[in-house]
Amino acid sequence: MAGCVLPSRSPDALEIRRRVLTAFEAAERDNDLARSADLTFVIVGGGPTGVELAGAIAELARYTVAGEFRSFDPHRTRVVLVEGGTRLLPAFHESLSKAALTALERLGVEVKLDTRVTNVTDHGVNMGDVFLPARTVLWAAGVQGSSLGRSLGVELDRAGRVKVNPDLTIPGFPDAYVIGDLAWCAGPDGEPLPGLAPVAIQQGEHTADNIAAVIDRRERKPFRYWDKGIMATVGRANGVAQTGKLRLSGFIGWMTWLFIHILYLIGFRNRIIVMIQWVWAWVTYGRSARLITGIPLSPARRAEAPVSPPAPAHQEVNK
Ligand SMILES: Cc1cc2nc3c(=O)[nH]c(=O)nc-3n(C[C@H](O)[C@H](O)[C@H](O)COP(=O)(O)OP(=O)(O)OC[C@H]3O[C@@H](n4cnc5c(N)ncnc54)[C@H](O)[C@@H]3O)c2cc1C
Repeated sequence: MAGCVLPSRSPDALEIRRRVLTAFEAAERDNDLARSADLTFVIVGGGPTGVELAGAIAELARYTVAGEFRSFDPHRTRVVLVEGGTRLLPAFHESLSKAALTALERLGVEVKLDTRVTNVTDHGVNMGDVFLPARTVLWAAGVQGSSLGRSLGVELDRAGRVKVNPDLTIPGFPDAYVIGDLAWCAGPDGEPLPGLAPVAIQQGEHTADNIAAVIDRRERKPFRYWDKGIMATVGRANGVAQTGKLRLSGFIGWMTWLFIHILYLIGFRNRIIVMIQWVWAWVTYGRSARLITGIPLSPARRAEAPVSPPAPAHQEVNK
């Protein structure tokens, strides 16, 4: 999975970084905060997005800002990754799930498997009757389809995706296509295709071909996804990648991730520039990531926020 941030999502990425860094700054000013929910980051969902996020936040605390503070030790940051299933990265082979788990635990991430988040509040998350206080909760357990889908008045799945015909047209509307994340399209195993950029790109190309076929009075073809493989990074210099029967993890998995992403960039100049930027970020432990942007929570608003969570049955004690 690419770690790239799509333009429409970059404000969220900046907000996440701002919250992490301002939590560290607040803990430096007030050491009591270092034990509070402010320094607990909960990530819900152990798919590629959750695994990459957990690794990136843990790495930021462990390496990028290490040694920057006088009274507060960023290593005390608590990163908790909650996954409802029995393993991380369920779309990957089991051996890669184990490799990702080991790599995350080595980075200090607490991974809670077989645990479902049942409620999210401003103060933390409920996992059944256990409440975990946390000021920052990041949802990585799937996205809801665009509201445009609901306005069509056609059959949708639970995530709001439009159930399309094999040629990606809407049932009953032969000239209207739905593609990408908004389409529920069955793969060869009958399960819906994943919400990935390659699926969306291939569906776009396929739909263009089908529209050309209609103009040329040829028959439309059903969509077939060519799965070239999946990848995810797990912190610094660690990753998992699989294509067909080939499974890679650790440094080689990460190198594969890098190589594929550089390869898919358009233009030689872009590839060189991105490569230089990545090498620099790697060597310097991404020190430019320390930049705080956006509007920080004012001390008044911080004080307004109640410290104790609403009466949980069991409360986890923050480390
Ligand atoms: C955090 C995150 C990380 C991801 N990482 C990866 C990854 O590493 N690798 C990977 O392959 N995939 C990844 N994905 C998935 C990938 O981003 C999507 O599968 C892909 O972008 C789908 O393309 P799309 O064109 O269907 O939708 P989008 O890229 O979401 O584009 C839809 C566009 O339509 C616009 N839009 C919506 N409604 C309307 C409307 N009513 N009118 C006009 N415009 C509208 C939206 O603003 C948006 O710009 C990630 C997704 C997320 C959320």
